[in-house]
Amino acid sequence: MSQLPPCPQCASEFTYEDGAQLVCPECGHEWSETEGAAAESEKIIRDANGNELQDGDSVTVIKDLKVKGSSLVVKVGTKVKRIRLVGGDHDIDCKVDGIGPMKLKSEFVKKV
Ligand SMILES: [Zn+2]
Repeated sequence: MSQLPPCPQCASEFTYEDGAQLVCPECGHEWSETEGAAAESEKIIRDANGNELQDGDSVTVIKDLKVKGSSLVVKVGTKVKRIRLVGGDHDIDCKVDGIGPMKLKSEFVKKV
């Protein structure tokens, strides 16, 4: 038996399970435990426009970016497919056509 989490809406501890849903008898809020857990563990990474980015998204680069340790530049407008979100300063892991695997900052990309 695992202990049920309190209601995210009113913090009531009298929550109960109803199938895959959790229900709060005090305020009537219903939610899914798995969704809540995922939202808490994942940091939301946003692009330059404030749109939420997700693994597998395609983005375009909004600024010429020099590739560290080389003379290559990722040109503004470069489309990058299937990004992967990682933690840290450069929070996007991806592969750029003609350049190879590299890391980007989410503030320099825009979701397509
Ligand atoms: Zn509640």
